[in-house]
Amino acid sequence: MSEQKKFNSSLPVLLGVMGDPIAHSKSPAMHNAALQAAGVNGMYMPLHVHPDQLEAAVRGIVALGYRGVNVTIPHKEQVMQYLDVIDESARLIGAVNTIVNEGGTLTGYNTDGIGYVRSLKEEAVPELAGKRIAVLGAGGAARGVIYALALEKPERVHILNRTADRAIALASDLRGHGLGEILGSGMEDAAMVLATADIVINTTAAGMHPHVDDVPVDPTLIREGVAVSDLIYNPLETRLLRESRLRGCMVHGGLGMFVYQGAVAFEHWLGIPAPVETMRRAVLNSFEE
Ligand code: NAP
Repeated sequence: MSEQKKFNSSLPVLLGVMGDPIAHSKSPAMHNAALQAAGVNGMYMPLHVHPDQLEAAVRGIVALGYRGVNVTIPHKEQVMQYLDVIDESARLIGAVNTIVNEGGTLTGYNTDGIGYVRSLKEEAVPELAGKRIAVLGAGGAARGVIYALALEKPERVHILNRTADRAIALASDLRGHGLGEILGSGMEDAAMVLATADIVINTTAAGMHPHVDDVPVDPTLIREGVAVSDLIYNPLETRLLRESRLRGCMVHGGLGMFVYQGAVAFEHWLGIPAPVETMRRAVLNSFEE
C-alpha cells in the first residue's frame, strides 16, 4: 500500500507544531495549504505547549494519534529526552524540529539544515562540492546548516562569529565528527576569509526585524559576483542581501529555508513529495494578512 493510500482513511491525519509562544507561527498556514494541495485529508494545528507541560504534550502525540509534529522555540533541545529514537543527524546537531509517530514509536529529526541546503541548491547554487563557504554566526541555526553543508563536500567551511570562542568550538566539534575542513575564528579574520569565499551565508540575527539596518559584516568585504545567502526571512531581503545584490552578487533569502524545512518534515510524515510552491505562496500570503 502506498504511503498516500495509507493516510486516505476516514480519519484526518493529525499534525501540528509545539512551541511557546506559537500564535504567530507560519507553519499551520503553510502545512494546511500543503495538505490540501496534496489531496490529503488532514489538519495541522498550532499547539501552545508551556515548558513544564512538554513531556505530557509529547506523550499526547501517541495518545491522541497524531502522525507527527514540528517542535519550535523553546523546545527543540529539551524534547529529545522524551523521544524513543533520535535520527543520527539530529543527535549531532543537538536539536529536533520534527517528530514522526510510527505506530507509537516517536522518532526525532532535524530538517532545518537539510531544508536550508535544499533551498540553497534549488534556488541559488546547484553544486556545492568544492566551494569555499564562509558562514557568519555560530549559534543553533549555524550548527544545523554547517552540518548539512558539510555533507555536500565543499572545499572548506570557515565560521566567523562575533564571539570568536563559539566559532572555534563549533568548528572543532564538527571537525571531530569527520565532517571535513571546518575552521572557526572571530570577525577580525573577515577580510581575509571573504577575499576567497565563493558563498557567504549569514546565520546571525543581525539585520532581522526590527534591527533592519544591522549587518553582520561590512558588505564591501564580500567579492563581487559571489553567492550571498541569509537565513533571515523577516525582512525578505536584508540589508546584507540588498547591498550584495547591488554589487552584482547572487542573493538568496531565508524564506526558502523555512519552506524546505517544512517540506522535508511533510515528506517524513506522509511519504509523498511536498508541494513546495504552494507552501511558499501560503507563507507569503500569511505575511500580507
Ligand atoms: P542563536 O543560537 O541565538 O545565535 C545567534 C547568532 O547570531 C550568534 O552567532 C550571535 O553571535 C550572532 N549575533 C546575534 N546578534 C548579532 C549582531 N548584532 N551582530 C553580529 N552577530 C550577532 O540564534 P539562531 O537560532 O542560530 O538564529 C539565528 C538567525 O537565524 C535568526 O535571525 C533566525 O531568524 C534565523 N533562522 C532562520 C530560519 C529559517 O527558517 N529561515 C531558521 C532558524 C533560524 P554571538 O555568539 O557573538 O552572540
